[in-house]
Amino acid sequence: MAKIQAIRGTKDILPEELQYWQFIHNRIANLLECANYQEIRTPIFENSDLYDRGIGRDTDIVNKEMYRFHDRSNRDITLRPEGTAGIVRAFIENKMSYDHSLQRLWYSGPMFRYERPQSGRQRQFHQLGIEFLGSLDARADSEVIHLAISIFNNLNLTDLELDLNSIGKVEDRNIYQAKLQEYLQQYYNDLDPDSQKRLISNPIRILDSKNTNTQKILSEAPKISDCLSLSSQRHFDAVCNYLKLLDIPYKINHKLVRGLDYYNDTAFEIKTLTSKGQDTVCGGGRYDSLVKQLGGPATPAVGCAIGLERLLLLAKEKIELPSKYIDFYIATQGEKANAVGMRIMHFLHQKFFTIEIDVSSSNFGKQIKQANKKRAVACIIIGNKEVEQGTVSIKWMSSQQQEDMRMIQFEHSTSYLKKKIRFYKSLKSY
Ligand code: ATP
Ligand code: MG
Repeated sequence: MAKIQAIRGTKDILPEELQYWQFIHNRIANLLECANYQEIRTPIFENSDLYDRGIGRDTDIVNKEMYRFHDRSNRDITLRPEGTAGIVRAFIENKMSYDHSLQRLWYSGPMFRYERPQSGRQRQFHQLGIEFLGSLDARADSEVIHLAISIFNNLNLTDLELDLNSIGKVEDRNIYQAKLQEYLQQYYNDLDPDSQKRLISNPIRILDSKNTNTQKILSEAPKISDCLSLSSQRHFDAVCNYLKLLDIPYKINHKLVRGLDYYNDTAFEIKTLTSKGQDTVCGGGRYDSLVKQLGGPATPAVGCAIGLERLLLLAKEKIELPSKYIDFYIATQGEKANAVGMRIMHFLHQKFFTIEIDVSSSNFGKQIKQANKKRAVACIIIGNKEVEQGTVSIKWMSSQQQEDMRMIQFEHSTSYLKKKIRFYKSLKSY
């Protein structure tokens, strides 16, 4: 029979690895809470229409990367390839624009794209995103960029480059597109085949080409900055000035265009300079027309998304996880003792001690060895003798001291036990 395996491009995150995920998740959640961002969770699948209309039919994501299928009622459904469109749908559907309040939101969760799996590129991957809805002000763009950078810095990742560009408004891009098309037309035969196709369908995307020859041709191409309207130019200057004010170094990259159609004006990417494969760890920008385009009230917005697999590849070696320990390991022998052990497990669990009960029925020597292996602060030992006497024996592992306690007394000793656990933990670095 064929082996059942995880689907290509997906990965199990095992408990040991998950500790790192939780570590960065908690760090980032704290940081975002300090900036008064609120977490939002939207469904993992949506009507495909949302992405057709939101991300744009001409994009790589919609064209070839979506997990799109018909459900049993023949609904056209897509596993979300990114977070912004779903959040905008939720924003509209739940009338979050009510009384024109600003919404500072964040999300984190799995995304799905049908791509060629490699290091830092999966078919199910995770993004953490920030969305600031309701403001046109350049301070909103700068706040989002500042937050993204501080997330990286907070995880001791400083070897980064922030690439920044303004892609203007649709009208600016139309003018630019015509200029770019005209320029590239002369070199049509020297362009790579993908770019040749795009010359008609979506010439701006050619800027993104990885082909060296195409890149060479592009070095002399007209720049989008020459086509920006005055208001877009002013907005971009303001963003740059705020970034300077915040001591955030950036590099203007005239060729930076994003792979989603909804962006306007500010576009940015954060790249790692110590690349381990894929070097873009965060991408974002302004999307002032998306809310209206999806049927909501005109609401400007700006946001970004961090690829968590890529972030983790970089951050992992800098993270020192707190060591794992348990407060009590419960060792018992004999049927009656097993019953008492279960009662003690229940009691300690209710009092929020970290505990584990040994269910091996092996001899005490082996069970105590396990207690050591699990880094227990203390081992509670209950055998026939203890059952007869109505006592429990507590062995404090680091001092090897053992004390006997009457069961009745034990169940009134929570604060004593807490104190003792604290004391032993302070002696040894558990
Ligand atoms: P790339 O050029 O690497 O394909 P992208 O422009 O498609 O990236 P975005 O849509 O901007 O990516 O998503 C934001 C971030 O999510 C990326 O910078 C990256 O860190 C991460 N990301 C995107 N696609 C994947 C994937 N397939 N696997 C892992 N991470 C991904
Ligand atoms: Mg991509």
